[in-house]
Amino acid sequence: MADCIFCKIAAGEIPSNKAYEDDKVLAFYDLDPQAPTHILVIPKEHIKSAAEIDETNSALIAHVFEVAAKLAKELGLDNGFRVVTNCGESAGQSVHHIHFHLLGGRDFTWPPG
Ligand code: AMP
Repeated sequence: MADCIFCKIAAGEIPSNKAYEDDKVLAFYDLDPQAPTHILVIPKEHIKSAAEIDETNSALIAHVFEVAAKLAKELGLDNGFRVVTNCGESAGQSVHHIHFHLLGGRDFTWPPG
């Protein structure tokens, strides 16, 4: 998508602080971290939000979660971590390219605000 910031980051047109990359998935550090570890894991393919997950792209989303688990292990988040995706306006989604926040390094409350 031409005007999507995360498509541009995935294509290397906008720089990011990368944590992991393969041909389908990119993980990079959030610019405004909400925890000691705050990484965004995205599919390079443009999918708007979790509302668009279906049988055509669910294997890709499963791969995103494999990457999140691998990063959590590598970064030593053994005490626990959170994986969050905000979907739509009420949930506070600000970038309309699906992304999973991998948060760790502190305790989290439940339910989230
Ligand atoms: P959300 O509000 O769930 O859509 O999350 C969007 C996230 O993207 C926010 O946590 C922002 O801090 C983060 N973000 C926006 N632009 C960039 C960027 N260029 N590099 C890294 N993180 C970004």
